[in-house]
Amino acid sequence: MTDLSGPMQLIDRFGRTVDYLRISITDRCDFRCVYCMAEEMTFLPRAQILTLEEIFTIGKAFTELGTKKIRITGGEPLVRKGALGLLENLGQIESLTELVITTNGSQLETMAADLKKAGVKRINISLDTLDADKFKAITRTGDVQQVLRGIQAAIAVGFERIKINAVILKDRNHQEVCELVQYAVDNGIDISFIEEMPLGVVEQHDRSEAYYSSDLIKRDLALKFSLVATPEKTGGPSNYFKVVGTQTRVGFISPHSDNFCSTCNRVRLTVEGRLLLCLGNEHSVDLKKVLRANPGNMTILKQTIVEAMLIKPEKHEFNIHEQPVILRYMNMTGG
Ligand code: SAM
Ligand code: SF4
Repeated sequence: MTDLSGPMQLIDRFGRTVDYLRISITDRCDFRCVYCMAEEMTFLPRAQILTLEEIFTIGKAFTELGTKKIRITGGEPLVRKGALGLLENLGQIESLTELVITTNGSQLETMAADLKKAGVKRINISLDTLDADKFKAITRTGDVQQVLRGIQAAIAVGFERIKINAVILKDRNHQEVCELVQYAVDNGIDISFIEEMPLGVVEQHDRSEAYYSSDLIKRDLALKFSLVATPEKTGGPSNYFKVVGTQTRVGFISPHSDNFCSTCNRVRLTVEGRLLLCLGNEHSVDLKKVLRANPGNMTILKQTIVEAMLIKPEKHEFNIHEQPVILRYMNMTGG
């Protein structure tokens, strides 16, 4: 048994310190992005997903084990009733220095101010294109104007940092990378470009045909912008560049072309309460089962989390050209 009485840090077999937890608080979403979900999705029944109280308990246990950063994500986290209350409760944990969320922006117009009040410091907003028709085609249901109004509301509220996340797909939005960076520059915010990951089988979308590498994006951006590498990290997998003469940083999340596993500091809690040790592998521990079998027992929960570090894999096994081996979708996992 590990001694849990003193200050703790979670360390895996490869010497990596794990101090960042991402939590998917719902698998539901008002969008159906082509790379994330099938068009017809069956969502989980309520009894199968963690309650907000259970999520808080697990988050608290992690902070007692040295976690400094928690990202709330989904699905679309802001469509879950009670999401604000959960954020408020997490925001009150003193040792948690970074409480952040990832959202599709659809609810931000009305919720941005409350998120700030709840203690959310930084916010990532997904935006793959500024073009209304392309936006509709990629998200299947989304309205780009609603998201753009949400981004303006977030800027007006004044978070420490706002970052756009854009998944770039060949022939769908790859032609727009310069416009997206210009939008970030004009609004004084950051942007990260993400290579698509093969999570779940999606119809009407061939992931290998849609692959557009970070190197190609950098080549396209160089036609209009001067980018200089910065050593800066924000605790995630992005490599950052500064757009010369502006406040904007451009990040690249490149699971295929630039493997980031050697510095991995994160684990994920799925909406069903599975602690997932790696996005690209199935190694996991069922924390919901442990919690429900031992209500109120923080020691057993923390012990289980410490032991889970022993099965954190060395690296992901993504191959964009093969059928996905990971059958869960990103919305369950929490991107
Ligand atoms: N609904 C919120 C949103 O879209 O920001 C939060 C959840 S979403 C799963 C988190 C991030 O994962 C988004 O930026 C989305 O673009 C990204 N994402 C979803 N599926 C992906 C995939 N197959 N490969 C790479 N990124 C993906
Ligand atoms: Fe919803 Fe986000 Fe997935 Fe798009 S990427 S379907 S917005 S969870």
